[in-house]
Amino acid sequence: MENELHERQPTLVLIKPDGLSKSLTGNILTRLSETKLEIAAAKCVRVSRELAEEHYRDLREKPFFEEIIGYLMGKFHDRKKVLAFVYVGVDAIGKVRDICGATNPEEAASTTIRGAYGRITTKGVYENVIHASSNEQEAEREIKLWFKPDEVIYNIYPVKTVEEKVKHPIWA
Ligand code: UDP
Ligand code: MG
Repeated sequence: MENELHERQPTLVLIKPDGLSKSLTGNILTRLSETKLEIAAAKCVRVSRELAEEHYRDLREKPFFEEIIGYLMGKFHDRKKVLAFVYVGVDAIGKVRDICGATNPEEAASTTIRGAYGRITTKGVYENVIHASSNEQEAEREIKLWFKPDEVIYNIYPVKTVEEKVKHPIWA
């Protein structure tokens, strides 16, 4: 079981609003495909303040917290959305982090995604085009925040079924 989990280790990837504004989706996905990992979920998301604050909850004491919330919400870019993915495979977290490069784009190797495409804004925010989960606990927390179980094609975490009557839109 542990082995199976390891073989299908999931990690969350976000192409942040600067990646979208700079039309880097294709380039970023091509770089990620070098890992030979598999995409198990994908969608386009308009990020609410609530979602951004929950995503970066562990950084809420940092002086740049408000800036990175605005950044993830797309407040500084013309594409006010992110693309969210779950990648799965052997050592997915490490492989994706390696190809992303260091958090600070000036410190990231030029062969990495952040090294190639990131920048530091005049306000000092690292606009580094991509988010990737940093460990298994964070991956689980983040994936459960961004995706519902039926949006992921594999059973990566235990689920339960609940019955609820809610109004939701369907195609007219
Ligand atoms: N960040 C920043 N300045 C810092 C540290 C982080 O602007 O000194 C931003 C950057 O966009 C980073 C995000 O905050 O990707 C989350 O920070 P974290 O330390 O979790 O880095 P990551 O896991 O994304 O490499
Ligand atoms: Mg992080």
